[in-house]
Amino acid sequence: MLQSKLFTKTSKDAPKDETSFNAQILMRAGFIDKLAAGIYTFLPLGLRVHEKIKNIIRQEINLLGGQEILMPALTPKENWQATGRWDNFDVLFKLKGGDDKEYALAATHEEVVTPAVAKHVFSYRDLPVAVYQFQTKFRNELRAKAGLLRGREFSMKDLYSFHADQTDLDKYYEQVIETYHQIYRRLGLADLTYVTYASGGAFAKYSHEFQTVAEAGEDTIFACEQCRAAVNKEIIDEQSTCPICGSKDLVEKKAIEVGNIFKLGRKFTDAFGFTFKDAAGNDVPPVMGCYGIGPSRLMGTLAEIFHDERGLVWPVEVAPFAVHLLSLNPASAKATAGEARTMTDKIYQDLIKVGVEVLYDDREDKSAGEKFAASDLIGCPTRVLVSEKTLAEASVEVKNRATGEIKIIKIDELVNELKILANK
Ligand code: ATP
Ligand code: MG
Repeated sequence: MLQSKLFTKTSKDAPKDETSFNAQILMRAGFIDKLAAGIYTFLPLGLRVHEKIKNIIRQEINLLGGQEILMPALTPKENWQATGRWDNFDVLFKLKGGDDKEYALAATHEEVVTPAVAKHVFSYRDLPVAVYQFQTKFRNELRAKAGLLRGREFSMKDLYSFHADQTDLDKYYEQVIETYHQIYRRLGLADLTYVTYASGGAFAKYSHEFQTVAEAGEDTIFACEQCRAAVNKEIIDEQSTCPICGSKDLVEKKAIEVGNIFKLGRKFTDAFGFTFKDAAGNDVPPVMGCYGIGPSRLMGTLAEIFHDERGLVWPVEVAPFAVHLLSLNPASAKATAGEARTMTDKIYQDLIKVGVEVLYDDREDKSAGEKFAASDLIGCPTRVLVSEKTLAEASVEVKNRATGEIKIIKIDELVNELKILANK
Protein backbone atom coordinates (compact mmCIF):
# COMPACT_ATOMS: atom_id res chain seq x y z
CA MET A 1 0.00 0.00 0.00
CA LEU A 2 1.16 3.48 -0.81
CA GLN A 3 1.46 5.54 2.33
CA SER A 4 0.61 8.69 0.35
CA LYS A 5 -2.85 7.13 -0.14
CA LEU A 6 -3.29 5.89 3.45
CA PHE A 7 -5.76 8.36 4.90
CA THR A 8 -4.56 7.98 8.49
CA LYS A 9 -1.64 9.94 9.89
CA THR A 10 0.67 9.24 12.76
CA SER A 11 0.86 11.65 15.65
CA LYS A 12 3.58 12.57 18.14
CA ASP A 13 1.14 13.46 20.85
CA ALA A 14 -0.89 11.18 23.05
CA PRO A 15 -4.64 11.66 22.61
CA LYS A 16 -6.06 13.72 25.46
CA ASP A 17 -9.16 11.69 26.18
CA GLU A 18 -7.39 8.33 26.56
CA THR A 19 -5.50 7.05 29.58
CA SER A 20 -4.77 3.47 28.60
CA PHE A 21 -1.38 2.83 27.04
CA ASN A 22 -2.50 0.36 24.37
CA ALA A 23 -5.21 2.69 23.09
CA GLN A 24 -2.89 5.71 23.20
CA ILE A 25 -0.15 4.12 21.13
CA LEU A 26 -2.61 2.49 18.69
CA MET A 27 -4.37 5.84 18.24
CA ARG A 28 -1.08 7.72 17.74
CA ALA A 29 0.01 5.21 15.12
CA GLY A 30 -3.36 5.44 13.33
CA PHE A 31 -4.57 1.89 14.04
CA ILE A 32 -7.75 2.74 15.94
CA ASP A 33 -10.02 5.68 16.66
CA LYS A 34 -11.93 6.22 19.86
CA LEU A 35 -15.65 6.95 19.64
CA ALA A 36 -16.44 6.72 23.37
CA ALA A 37 -15.16 4.81 26.41
CA GLY A 38 -14.72 1.18 25.39
CA ILE A 39 -15.88 1.81 21.80
CA TYR A 40 -13.33 1.97 19.00
CA THR A 41 -13.11 2.06 15.21
CA PHE A 42 -10.54 -0.15 13.53
CA LEU A 43 -8.71 1.93 10.91
CA PRO A 44 -6.94 0.31 7.91
CA LEU A 45 -3.70 -0.58 9.75
CA GLY A 46 -5.55 -1.77 12.85
CA LEU A 47 -8.05 -3.78 10.86
CA ARG A 48 -5.19 -5.64 9.16
CA VAL A 49 -3.73 -6.63 12.53
CA HIS A 50 -7.16 -7.61 13.85
CA GLU A 51 -7.83 -9.76 10.76
CA LYS A 52 -4.44 -11.47 11.10
CA ILE A 53 -5.13 -12.35 14.71
CA LYS A 54 -8.51 -13.72 13.66
CA ASN A 55 -6.98 -15.75 10.86
CA ILE A 56 -4.47 -17.42 13.15
CA ILE A 57 -7.34 -18.37 15.46
CA ARG A 58 -9.49 -19.48 12.52
CA GLN A 59 -6.76 -21.75 11.11
CA GLU A 60 -6.18 -23.41 14.45
CA ILE A 61 -9.86 -23.85 15.34
CA ASN A 62 -10.54 -25.31 11.88
CA LEU A 63 -7.89 -27.93 12.67
CA LEU A 64 -9.98 -28.82 15.72
CA GLY A 65 -12.93 -29.53 13.46
CA GLY A 66 -14.70 -26.27 14.31
CA GLN A 67 -17.25 -25.20 11.70
CA GLU A 68 -17.53 -21.45 11.26
CA ILE A 69 -20.94 -19.80 11.50
CA LEU A 70 -22.17 -16.27 12.19
CA MET A 71 -24.88 -15.64 14.73
CA PRO A 72 -26.85 -12.42 15.19
CA ALA A 73 -25.92 -9.78 17.73
CA LEU A 74 -29.57 -8.83 18.25
CA THR A 75 -31.27 -11.51 20.31
CA PRO A 76 -34.82 -11.83 21.70
CA LYS A 77 -35.53 -11.67 25.42
CA GLU A 78 -37.25 -15.10 25.46
CA ASN A 79 -34.00 -16.94 24.78
CA TRP A 80 -32.36 -15.25 27.76
CA GLN A 81 -35.38 -15.94 29.92
CA ALA A 82 -35.15 -19.62 29.04
CA THR A 83 -31.75 -19.82 30.76
CA GLY A 84 -32.51 -17.33 33.53
CA ARG A 85 -29.86 -14.94 32.27
CA TRP A 86 -32.16 -12.04 31.29
CA ASP A 87 -32.10 -10.99 34.95
CA ASN A 88 -28.79 -12.50 36.05
CA PHE A 89 -26.28 -11.36 33.45
CA ASP A 90 -25.25 -8.04 34.95
CA VAL A 91 -23.58 -6.53 31.87
CA LEU A 92 -26.31 -7.34 29.34
CA PHE A 93 -27.33 -4.44 27.09
CA LYS A 94 -31.12 -4.50 26.79
CA LEU A 95 -33.29 -2.61 24.34
CA LYS A 96 -36.86 -2.32 23.14
CA GLY A 97 -37.93 -3.08 19.60
CA GLY A 98 -40.60 -1.12 17.72
CA ASP A 99 -43.00 -4.01 18.29
CA ASP A 100 -42.64 -3.50 22.05
CA LYS A 101 -40.65 -6.68 22.29
CA GLU A 102 -37.43 -6.65 24.24
CA TYR A 103 -34.02 -7.67 22.97
CA ALA A 104 -30.46 -8.01 24.19
CA LEU A 105 -27.28 -7.22 22.31
CA ALA A 106 -25.56 -10.55 22.76
CA ALA A 107 -22.80 -10.64 25.38
CA THR A 108 -22.20 -14.35 24.64
CA HIS A 109 -24.08 -16.82 22.43
CA GLU A 110 -25.13 -19.97 24.31
CA GLU A 111 -28.74 -18.72 24.06
CA VAL A 112 -28.46 -18.61 20.26
CA VAL A 113 -26.22 -21.54 19.42
CA THR A 114 -27.97 -24.14 21.57
CA PRO A 115 -31.44 -23.97 19.95
CA ALA A 116 -29.83 -23.62 16.49
CA VAL A 117 -27.70 -26.76 16.81
CA ALA A 118 -30.63 -28.63 18.39
CA LYS A 119 -32.49 -28.41 15.06
CA HIS A 120 -29.80 -30.49 13.36
CA VAL A 121 -28.76 -33.09 15.92
CA PHE A 122 -31.06 -36.12 16.37
CA SER A 123 -28.88 -39.10 17.14
CA TYR A 124 -25.61 -39.92 18.89
CA ARG A 125 -24.27 -40.37 15.35
CA ASP A 126 -24.68 -36.62 14.80
CA LEU A 127 -22.31 -35.84 17.70
CA PRO A 128 -19.88 -34.34 18.49
CA VAL A 129 -20.52 -30.94 16.93
CA ALA A 130 -18.22 -27.94 17.25
CA VAL A 131 -19.25 -24.56 15.85
CA TYR A 132 -17.63 -21.19 16.25
CA GLN A 133 -17.87 -17.61 15.11
CA PHE A 134 -16.11 -14.28 15.21
CA GLN A 135 -18.65 -11.84 16.46
CA THR A 136 -19.01 -8.46 18.00
CA LYS A 137 -20.03 -8.79 21.62
CA PHE A 138 -21.65 -6.11 23.73
CA ARG A 139 -21.17 -5.80 27.46
CA ASN A 140 -22.11 -2.87 29.61
CA GLU A 141 -18.74 -2.88 31.36
CA LEU A 142 -18.53 -0.47 34.27
CA ARG A 143 -14.82 0.13 33.98
CA ALA A 144 -14.09 0.60 30.29
CA LYS A 145 -10.79 2.37 30.91
CA ALA A 146 -8.31 -0.12 29.53
CA GLY A 147 -8.54 0.63 25.81
CA LEU A 148 -8.93 -2.52 23.71
CA LEU A 149 -8.47 -4.65 26.81
CA ARG A 150 -12.00 -3.89 27.97
CA GLY A 151 -14.43 -2.83 25.30
CA ARG A 152 -18.14 -2.26 25.70
CA GLU A 153 -18.22 -3.48 22.13
CA PHE A 154 -15.45 -5.96 21.34
CA SER A 155 -14.63 -8.96 19.19
CA MET A 156 -14.75 -12.54 20.39
CA LYS A 157 -14.09 -15.91 18.87
CA ASP A 158 -16.57 -18.17 20.60
CA LEU A 159 -16.52 -21.89 20.01
CA TYR A 160 -19.23 -24.21 21.35
CA SER A 161 -18.96 -27.99 21.43
CA PHE A 162 -21.71 -30.57 21.97
CA HIS A 163 -20.96 -34.14 23.03
CA ALA A 164 -22.78 -37.37 23.66
CA ASP A 165 -21.07 -37.82 27.01
CA GLN A 166 -18.71 -36.27 29.51
CA THR A 167 -15.72 -38.38 28.42
CA ASP A 168 -15.97 -37.05 24.89
CA LEU A 169 -16.21 -33.46 26.17
CA ASP A 170 -13.21 -33.99 28.46
CA LYS A 171 -11.13 -35.24 25.54
CA TYR A 172 -12.11 -32.33 23.30
CA TYR A 173 -11.48 -29.83 26.11
CA GLU A 174 -7.88 -31.04 26.45
CA GLN A 175 -7.41 -30.62 22.70
CA VAL A 176 -8.71 -27.04 22.92
CA ILE A 177 -6.12 -26.29 25.62
CA GLU A 178 -3.37 -27.47 23.24
CA THR A 179 -4.84 -25.43 20.40
CA TYR A 180 -4.99 -22.32 22.56
CA HIS A 181 -1.32 -22.75 23.45
CA GLN A 182 -0.54 -22.99 19.74
CA ILE A 183 -2.51 -19.78 19.04
CA TYR A 184 -0.64 -17.83 21.73
CA ARG A 185 2.63 -19.28 20.46
CA ARG A 186 1.94 -17.98 16.95
CA LEU A 187 1.06 -14.58 18.40
CA GLY A 188 4.46 -14.43 20.09
CA LEU A 189 2.91 -14.70 23.57
CA ALA A 190 3.94 -18.24 24.55
CA ASP A 191 6.53 -17.18 27.12
CA LEU A 192 4.12 -14.85 28.88
CA THR A 193 0.92 -16.89 28.82
CA TYR A 194 -0.13 -19.24 31.62
CA VAL A 195 -3.00 -21.68 31.67
CA THR A 196 -4.76 -20.52 34.80
CA TYR A 197 -7.19 -22.35 37.03
CA ALA A 198 -10.18 -20.18 37.82
CA SER A 199 -13.63 -20.66 39.21
CA GLY A 200 -15.63 -22.75 36.82
CA GLY A 201 -19.25 -22.00 37.45
CA ALA A 202 -21.46 -24.85 38.57
CA PHE A 203 -20.38 -27.63 36.22
CA ALA A 204 -16.68 -28.19 36.73
CA LYS A 205 -14.31 -27.58 39.59
CA TYR A 206 -12.37 -25.14 37.42
CA SER A 207 -12.57 -23.21 34.23
CA HIS A 208 -9.31 -22.49 32.49
CA GLU A 209 -8.20 -18.99 31.69
CA PHE A 210 -5.27 -18.10 29.53
CA GLN A 211 -3.52 -15.24 31.25
CA THR A 212 -0.79 -13.16 29.61
CA VAL A 213 1.53 -11.48 32.07
CA ALA A 214 1.49 -7.69 31.62
CA GLU A 215 1.56 -4.66 33.92
CA ALA A 216 -1.71 -3.42 32.43
CA GLY A 217 -3.45 -6.65 33.42
CA GLU A 218 -6.53 -6.37 35.61
CA ASP A 219 -6.18 -9.90 36.97
CA THR A 220 -3.74 -11.25 39.54
CA ILE A 221 -2.42 -14.77 39.12
CA PHE A 222 -0.11 -16.98 41.14
CA ALA A 223 2.18 -18.72 38.68
CA CYS A 224 4.24 -21.90 38.89
CA GLU A 225 7.24 -21.34 36.63
CA GLN A 226 7.99 -25.07 36.40
CA CYS A 227 4.57 -26.08 35.10
CA ARG A 228 3.73 -22.83 33.25
CA ALA A 229 0.41 -23.01 35.08
CA ALA A 230 -1.22 -20.55 37.45
CA VAL A 231 -4.09 -20.03 39.84
CA ASN A 232 -6.32 -16.94 39.64
CA LYS A 233 -6.25 -14.85 42.83
CA GLU A 234 -10.06 -15.13 42.99
CA ILE A 235 -9.79 -18.87 43.84
CA ILE A 236 -6.42 -18.94 45.58
CA ASP A 237 -8.15 -19.69 48.92
CA GLU A 238 -9.45 -22.96 47.50
CA GLN A 239 -6.34 -23.82 45.54
CA SER A 240 -3.17 -22.42 47.13
CA THR A 241 -0.67 -24.75 45.46
CA CYS A 242 0.23 -25.42 41.83
CA PRO A 243 -2.68 -27.51 40.48
CA ILE A 244 -0.22 -29.60 38.47
CA CYS A 245 2.84 -30.30 40.65
CA GLY A 246 1.52 -29.20 44.04
CA SER A 247 4.37 -26.73 44.56
CA LYS A 248 3.78 -23.96 47.10
CA ASP A 249 6.31 -21.80 45.32
CA LEU A 250 3.96 -19.56 43.35
CA VAL A 251 4.82 -16.10 42.05
CA GLU A 252 2.27 -13.30 42.05
CA LYS A 253 1.86 -11.54 38.70
CA LYS A 254 -0.50 -9.13 36.97
CA ALA A 255 -2.04 -10.58 33.85
CA ILE A 256 -4.57 -10.06 31.07
CA GLU A 257 -7.20 -12.75 30.54
CA VAL A 258 -6.83 -13.46 26.82
CA GLY A 259 -8.96 -16.61 26.72
CA ASN A 260 -11.35 -18.60 28.87
CA ILE A 261 -12.77 -22.08 28.40
CA PHE A 262 -15.57 -23.77 30.33
CA LYS A 263 -17.31 -27.07 30.67
CA LEU A 264 -21.01 -26.22 30.71
CA GLY A 265 -22.53 -29.60 31.40
CA ARG A 266 -26.19 -29.80 30.39
CA LYS A 267 -27.27 -26.38 31.67
CA PHE A 268 -28.04 -24.94 28.24
CA THR A 269 -29.14 -28.11 26.45
CA ASP A 270 -31.59 -28.73 29.33
CA ALA A 271 -32.88 -25.16 29.17
CA PHE A 272 -33.75 -25.50 25.48
CA GLY A 273 -34.99 -29.09 25.66
CA PHE A 274 -32.21 -30.21 23.31
CA THR A 275 -32.00 -34.03 23.30
CA PHE A 276 -30.63 -36.73 21.01
CA LYS A 277 -31.24 -40.50 20.88
CA ASP A 278 -28.34 -42.35 22.47
CA ALA A 279 -27.25 -45.84 21.34
CA ALA A 280 -29.85 -47.41 23.64
CA GLY A 281 -32.63 -45.26 22.12
CA ASN A 282 -33.03 -42.93 25.12
CA ASP A 283 -33.55 -39.18 24.69
CA VAL A 284 -30.70 -37.42 26.49
CA PRO A 285 -29.33 -33.88 26.42
CA PRO A 286 -25.78 -33.40 25.07
CA VAL A 287 -23.02 -32.03 27.31
CA MET A 288 -21.51 -28.76 26.23
CA GLY A 289 -18.29 -26.79 26.36
CA CYS A 290 -17.63 -23.15 25.42
CA TYR A 291 -14.33 -21.59 24.52
CA GLY A 292 -13.69 -17.84 24.14
CA ILE A 293 -10.82 -15.73 22.90
CA GLY A 294 -10.88 -11.97 22.41
CA PRO A 295 -9.09 -10.86 19.22
CA SER A 296 -9.51 -7.15 20.01
CA ARG A 297 -8.28 -7.68 23.57
CA LEU A 298 -5.35 -9.63 22.11
CA MET A 299 -4.51 -6.70 19.84
CA GLY A 300 -4.42 -4.43 22.88
CA THR A 301 -2.32 -7.01 24.73
CA LEU A 302 0.20 -7.18 21.87
CA ALA A 303 0.48 -3.37 21.92
CA GLU A 304 1.05 -3.41 25.69
CA ILE A 305 3.85 -5.96 25.32
CA PHE A 306 5.49 -5.34 21.96
CA HIS A 307 6.63 -1.73 21.90
CA ASP A 308 9.61 0.41 22.79
CA GLU A 309 9.98 4.14 23.43
CA ARG A 310 9.67 4.85 19.69
CA GLY A 311 6.56 2.86 18.98
CA LEU A 312 5.02 -0.50 18.21
CA VAL A 313 7.10 -3.61 17.43
CA TRP A 314 4.71 -6.14 15.88
CA PRO A 315 5.44 -9.87 15.82
CA VAL A 316 5.80 -10.95 12.18
CA GLU A 317 2.60 -13.03 12.06
CA VAL A 318 0.31 -10.13 12.96
CA ALA A 319 2.16 -7.07 11.63
CA PRO A 320 -0.01 -4.83 9.42
CA PHE A 321 2.68 -5.14 6.73
CA ALA A 322 5.80 -7.31 6.76
CA VAL A 323 7.93 -4.58 5.20
CA HIS A 324 7.95 -0.83 5.50
CA LEU A 325 9.71 0.53 2.41
CA LEU A 326 11.01 4.08 2.75
CA SER A 327 12.28 6.22 -0.06
CA LEU A 328 14.12 9.29 1.11
CA ASN A 329 13.90 12.43 -0.92
CA PRO A 330 17.33 13.98 -1.31
CA ALA A 331 17.14 17.73 -0.87
CA SER A 332 19.68 18.27 -3.64
CA ALA A 333 19.96 16.92 -7.20
CA LYS A 334 16.44 16.49 -8.54
CA ALA A 335 17.61 13.93 -11.09
CA THR A 336 18.86 11.69 -8.30
CA ALA A 337 15.54 12.06 -6.50
CA GLY A 338 13.77 10.85 -9.64
CA GLU A 339 16.09 7.87 -9.93
CA ALA A 340 15.58 6.94 -6.31
CA ARG A 341 11.83 7.10 -6.76
CA THR A 342 11.89 4.92 -9.87
CA MET A 343 14.14 2.39 -8.20
CA THR A 344 12.00 2.29 -5.06
CA ASP A 345 8.81 1.90 -7.12
CA LYS A 346 10.39 -1.12 -8.76
CA ILE A 347 11.43 -2.66 -5.45
CA TYR A 348 7.85 -2.14 -4.23
CA GLN A 349 6.41 -3.92 -7.27
CA ASP A 350 8.96 -6.75 -7.10
CA LEU A 351 8.23 -7.46 -3.42
CA ILE A 352 4.47 -7.43 -4.01
CA LYS A 353 4.90 -9.87 -6.91
CA VAL A 354 6.44 -12.47 -4.61
CA GLY A 355 3.66 -11.98 -2.05
CA VAL A 356 5.39 -9.74 0.50
CA GLU A 357 3.03 -7.19 2.07
CA VAL A 358 4.61 -3.77 1.80
CA LEU A 359 3.71 -0.35 3.14
CA TYR A 360 5.57 2.05 0.88
CA ASP A 361 6.30 5.49 2.27
CA ASP A 362 6.30 7.32 -1.05
CA ARG A 363 5.30 10.65 0.46
CA GLU A 364 7.21 13.47 -1.18
CA ASP A 365 6.46 16.18 1.35
CA LYS A 366 7.95 14.41 4.37
CA SER A 367 11.48 14.70 5.72
CA ALA A 368 13.66 11.68 6.47
CA GLY A 369 13.15 12.34 10.19
CA GLU A 370 9.36 12.33 9.84
CA LYS A 371 9.45 9.11 7.83
CA PHE A 372 11.69 7.35 10.36
CA ALA A 373 9.50 8.46 13.26
CA ALA A 374 6.31 7.26 11.53
CA SER A 375 7.92 3.97 10.60
CA ASP A 376 9.10 3.29 14.14
CA LEU A 377 5.68 4.18 15.52
CA ILE A 378 3.79 1.89 13.10
CA GLY A 379 6.21 -0.93 13.89
CA CYS A 380 6.44 -3.18 10.81
CA PRO A 381 9.08 -5.88 11.47
CA THR A 382 11.40 -5.01 8.56
CA ARG A 383 12.29 -1.56 7.27
CA VAL A 384 13.85 -1.20 3.83
CA LEU A 385 15.47 2.14 3.19
CA VAL A 386 16.37 3.48 -0.23
CA SER A 387 18.39 6.67 -0.26
CA GLU A 388 20.89 8.49 -2.42
CA LYS A 389 23.61 6.94 -0.31
CA THR A 390 22.42 3.32 -0.63
CA LEU A 391 21.72 3.76 -4.33
CA ALA A 392 25.31 4.85 -4.91
CA GLU A 393 26.20 1.29 -3.84
CA ALA A 394 23.27 -0.29 -5.76
CA SER A 395 22.02 -1.36 -2.33
CA VAL A 396 19.33 -0.82 0.24
CA GLU A 397 19.49 -0.77 4.02
CA VAL A 398 17.40 -3.44 5.74
CA LYS A 399 16.67 -2.86 9.42
CA ASN A 400 15.04 -5.19 11.91
CA ARG A 401 12.54 -3.15 13.95
CA ALA A 402 12.82 -5.39 17.01
CA THR A 403 16.60 -5.81 17.27
CA GLY A 404 17.78 -2.71 15.42
CA GLU A 405 20.12 -4.90 13.40
CA ILE A 406 21.03 -3.35 10.02
CA LYS A 407 22.10 -5.17 6.86
CA ILE A 408 23.17 -3.64 3.57
CA ILE A 409 21.77 -5.72 0.74
CA LYS A 410 22.35 -5.40 -3.00
CA ILE A 411 19.17 -4.42 -4.80
CA ASP A 412 19.28 -7.43 -7.11
CA GLU A 413 19.46 -9.76 -4.09
CA LEU A 414 16.70 -8.07 -2.10
CA VAL A 415 13.70 -10.01 -3.36
CA ASN A 416 15.48 -13.29 -2.78
CA GLU A 417 16.44 -12.17 0.70
CA LEU A 418 12.95 -10.99 1.71
CA LYS A 419 10.70 -13.48 0.00
CA ILE A 420 10.59 -15.63 3.12
CA LEU A 421 8.40 -12.85 4.51
CA ALA A 422 5.77 -13.58 1.86
CA ASN A 423 2.28 -14.09 3.18
CA LYS A 424 1.52 -17.80 2.87
P1 ATP B 1 -13.27 -10.38 32.25
O1 ATP B 1 -13.17 -11.24 33.49
O2 ATP B 1 -11.95 -9.81 31.82
O3 ATP B 1 -14.37 -9.39 32.31
P2 ATP B 1 -14.79 -12.47 31.15
O4 ATP B 1 -14.30 -13.60 32.00
O5 ATP B 1 -16.10 -11.85 31.46
O6 ATP B 1 -13.67 -11.36 31.05
P3 ATP B 1 -15.38 -14.25 29.00
O7 ATP B 1 -16.85 -14.21 29.09
O8 ATP B 1 -14.64 -15.41 29.52
O9 ATP B 1 -14.78 -12.91 29.62
O10 ATP B 1 -15.00 -13.92 27.48
C1 ATP B 1 -14.10 -14.67 26.69
C2 ATP B 1 -12.96 -13.80 26.22
O11 ATP B 1 -13.44 -12.61 25.57
C3 ATP B 1 -12.08 -13.28 27.33
O12 ATP B 1 -11.14 -14.24 27.71
C4 ATP B 1 -11.44 -12.08 26.68
O13 ATP B 1 -10.36 -12.47 25.85
C5 ATP B 1 -12.54 -11.53 25.83
N1 ATP B 1 -13.27 -10.45 26.50
C6 ATP B 1 -14.18 -10.56 27.50
N2 ATP B 1 -14.66 -9.36 27.86
C7 ATP B 1 -14.03 -8.45 27.06
C8 ATP B 1 -14.11 -7.02 26.94
N3 ATP B 1 -14.92 -6.31 27.69
N4 ATP B 1 -13.33 -6.43 26.00
C9 ATP B 1 -12.50 -7.16 25.22
N5 ATP B 1 -12.39 -8.49 25.29
C10 ATP B 1 -13.14 -9.14 26.20
MG1 MG C 1 -13.47 -15.10 31.50
